[in-house]
Amino acid sequence: MPSLPPLNRDYERRAYWHATMPQLADRSGRDLPDSVDAIVIGGGYTGIAAARKLALQGARTVLLEANTLGFGASTRNGGIAHPGFKWGPETLVKRHGRELAHALYAETVQATDLLAGIVRDQGIDAELRFNGYLELAWARKHAEDFPAEVAALAEVGTTARAIPHDQLAAEIGTSAYHGGLAVDVGGVVHPAKWFVALVGLAERAGAELHEGVRATSIRRQADGRFVVETKRGAILTRDILVATNGYTDGVAPTLRRRIIPIGSYIIATEPLPEDLARELSPTGRAYFDTKNFLSYWHVSKDRRMLFGGRVSFMPTTVDRTAKLLYKRMLEVHPQLAGYKVEYSWGGKVALTMDRMPHIGRAGGVMYAMGYSGTGLVMSNWLGTRAAEWMGGGEAPALAKLRFPIVPAPYEGRPWFLPFAGEFFRFRDRMAAREKVAAPDS
Ligand SMILES: Cc1cc2nc3c(=O)[nH]c(=O)nc-3n(C[C@H](O)[C@H](O)[C@H](O)COP(=O)(O)OP(=O)(O)OC[C@H]3O[C@@H](n4cnc5c(N)ncnc54)[C@H](O)[C@@H]3O)c2cc1C
Repeated sequence: MPSLPPLNRDYERRAYWHATMPQLADRSGRDLPDSVDAIVIGGGYTGIAAARKLALQGARTVLLEANTLGFGASTRNGGIAHPGFKWGPETLVKRHGRELAHALYAETVQATDLLAGIVRDQGIDAELRFNGYLELAWARKHAEDFPAEVAALAEVGTTARAIPHDQLAAEIGTSAYHGGLAVDVGGVVHPAKWFVALVGLAERAGAELHEGVRATSIRRQADGRFVVETKRGAILTRDILVATNGYTDGVAPTLRRRIIPIGSYIIATEPLPEDLARELSPTGRAYFDTKNFLSYWHVSKDRRMLFGGRVSFMPTTVDRTAKLLYKRMLEVHPQLAGYKVEYSWGGKVALTMDRMPHIGRAGGVMYAMGYSGTGLVMSNWLGTRAAEWMGGGEAPALAKLRFPIVPAPYEGRPWFLPFAGEFFRFRDRMAAREKVAAPDS
């Protein structure tokens, strides 16, 4: 590749979404009650969706957010709303048997429909564009696996097509991949506008939302109720949901031992000319690749390229990640050379050992977390389903999975991440070796 034009340095170090979302009211300093029916810890999609549903079910519900509502991943993510997990239906069947695998996958489709349904029924302006997604094969083997995945997706009722390398141009303006898997379900959304709308719905349902209140410990009383301690006093409750995902701290040590927090980062360019935006993204889909150090991207409604990825497993800065993402973006889309980057930001996702989200109860405390990159639709879904389960409804299929512990002495600071990062980098490099033999790449 010829030498890259240098990255400009005058971009904003904050999320493009934050610059374009409606401002939320300050909900700090509000009086806390002594006793409620339910406490939700964490003010992202999971917590807000749960608080909304609990309030609709008639429970007096308090949500505690340590920072500001949406401080976590829920206003920082890539805006890609898609069904499915890290693993396709074929792998799910191998791991969990046909019946559970199909139930697990079906719930991700329902989760995608739930989000779209709320947006539509509530008349929410969240820039929802459900044109499906395209998964791009980084290694030739990944492309060879796509036809089998198409068949496995058909079995769970999802239509998909394997796109060979020589036909990719109709789908995306790059020849850097071996092929694609096009799925016509899901798409993209403005994640922070969706979040703000969800906050409004929760509050209108009667949920009491508090900012700047960190839950510091949970204790169970002899009568089965829980005491949640905060710096501003203790609250007694019948039910608790921990909804802290990649920001899980010592309030729930047993959950922290199961969550691996990893940074994910994004850059947004200036708005692109119409013909270039159409060339990059002729079908307006969401895009992501099959790398372990994955990249994900889409063209926003105002025609910016939003390009994100896992670029570092170490503590880093948005200046460093902007450089890495800019280089990667130009490897995929050299047409973007010379266009300015206007925003650079990041946030924390939660990976789990089995790369699946988890919902369940630990010592009577309910949790929903560990989305492993699929959280935009699954967090709203599991938050809602957690509330229904608390209210006596059925548990979702994901509750059948055991929540594996990280097999290393670990109290929250993931010291092993640099080693895991090197391992994944090695595997991506091995895949890239095959890549050299690919046509045009
Ligand atoms: C850069 C980036 C890109 C992403 N892109 C996508 C994407 O395109 N598609 C997709 O599906 N997913 C994506 N994700 C993941 C997705 O955003 C998350 O899975 C989802 O937002 C999780 O929502 P949540 O409510 O569970 O957690 P969060 O939104 O992270 O909220 C957790 C909250 O808990 C609070 N908290 C923690 N401890 C306490 C405590 N003790 N007391 C009170 N509050 C506490 C935190 O302050 C935080 O606000 C991305 C994530 C990032 C960071």
